[in-house]
Amino acid sequence: MSSPLACVIGHPVAHSRSPMIHKHWLAAHSIAGDYVREDVPPGAIEAFFDSLPESRYVGGNVTVPYKEIAFQKVAEADAVAKTLGAINTLWIEHGKLCGGNSDVYGFLTHLDQSQPSWSARTKTAIIVGAGGVARAAIHGLLERNIQNIVVANRTLARAENLATHFKKRVTPAVLADLPAHLANADLLVNATSLGMKGEPPLDINLATLKKGAVVYDLVYVPLETKLLADARRRGFAVVDGLGMLLHQAAPAFERWFGVRPEVTPALRALVAADIERESAR
Ligand code: NDP
Repeated sequence: MSSPLACVIGHPVAHSRSPMIHKHWLAAHSIAGDYVREDVPPGAIEAFFDSLPESRYVGGNVTVPYKEIAFQKVAEADAVAKTLGAINTLWIEHGKLCGGNSDVYGFLTHLDQSQPSWSARTKTAIIVGAGGVARAAIHGLLERNIQNIVVANRTLARAENLATHFKKRVTPAVLADLPAHLANADLLVNATSLGMKGEPPLDINLATLKKGAVVYDLVYVPLETKLLADARRRGFAVVDGLGMLLHQAAPAFERWFGVRPEVTPALRALVAADIERESAR
């Protein structure tokens, strides 16, 4: 049997850190497999997904901008992928393309490990942003029974769509409404691309944020965004976005290569060093 091969599918994918993560685990478990990048242009993506069951791949990760198209193309999807309408992990089963979504798992596992008592302490959470990763975060918060979830977005219609989609406990808002909600928030999550290298920062005045709140930034380049630096300076507990990236990769690796890998300090240090290099460029 040939060595198992997986890939990350996106456009562009040159900056994806998934190869670094999976190659680290392949080496750690002495598995003679590999993990490569597949940069597929939009016009070719449907044919690419259709060809996967007959290809050399055991599966792959799906990243921007194809998570929703992948959902349309699979024969079977797991329950989380069905709720989100998006897929980040593909595998082949009985010759059929199957998919799942481990973003919710990554979001929650990193938060649980960083702030073990967060869910018991959280009545109200604010998610800033209403794109794909915000959807995953909201699903995670609902799964943990968080009672009030405010979704604040630049474009109100997208926040309203999410509130309609999830049906319960989600209140849409515009960014200008944020200050009014901060005093009640036990958890503040940045799920926008603001704060990423090359983007403006997410500028929120944290002066009125509820004492004891946790600030979770899903952006991970740089590792310490302005939001996290401000929060840290004011004494709030902070959680960065790198852990989510690392944890969402683990179920995919297990599915393709048969071993559940661990997110170790060594893996985190490896990827963090790469992010530092990119942030300094
Ligand atoms: P989307 O493109 O689906 O959503 C982007 C969000 O950012 C939207 O809410 C958009 O608002 C908002 N936004 C973008 N630019 C601005 C701006 N100038 N002012 C105000 N709001 C803005 O992206 P994703 O949801 O897939 O990803 C968002 C970010 O999350 C990524 O950039 C990445 O850094 C991070 N991420 C982290 C992961 C991890 O594992 N840690 C996993 C995936 C993503 P609007 O609707 O108004 O356009």
